[in-house]
Amino acid sequence: MSYSDTTKVKKKKVRSKMVPFPSSQRITCSECNNSTEFLEVSDGVILTTRFVQNKDGSFSQELDDSQVLGQVKFYCGDCGADLTQFHKRFLEMLF
Ligand SMILES: [Zn+2]
Repeated sequence: MSYSDTTKVKKKKVRSKMVPFPSSQRITCSECNNSTEFLEVSDGVILTTRFVQNKDGSFSQELDDSQVLGQVKFYCGDCGADLTQFHKRFLEMLF
């Protein structure tokens, strides 16, 4: 599965956006200058959630354990450019 399989990628927008502060702190797409929306795509993810059944038959979630087996890719949310090179910084800036 890759992001390019989806339909959103193809339209290329022409933007005349100014970049007044080329701060090294912000990740900016080199293709379209988008710096607000990004996509993280994880390949081969196993989501395991542990539930406990209560006496009345209802369930409570006890543990959420997800495992990423494949690669984690990072894309521009606007034009779909591969920004995986920034993924490490993205994780560092994720709060
Ligand atoms: Zn972009």
